[in-house]
Amino acid sequence: MWKDSLHTVRSVVARLYLAGGCVLLLGVCFKSLLLWAVGVVILLVGLVIHLRYYRCPACGKFLGRDAVAHCPHCGSKIR
Ligand SMILES: [Zn+2]
Repeated sequence: MWKDSLHTVRSVVARLYLAGGCVLLLGVCFKSLLLWAVGVVILLVGLVIHLRYYRCPACGKFLGRDAVAHCPHCGSKIR
């Protein structure tokens, strides 16, 4: 179950980063403060989800940016 949820967290965060980046870029291109702000909010939501939920199921510490096979803190197998 933890493996699936960590995969889901990574997938959701990647999509939020991509969507937020695209909306932010559109805001810059069209000089729209609203689009820019929405893009920043989407990116921040992705960042919060990443920092809050991408954690080792054994020790609870943050797993970092990359997909890892073992926790860098306790060595527990992640996938
Ligand atoms: Zn750990």
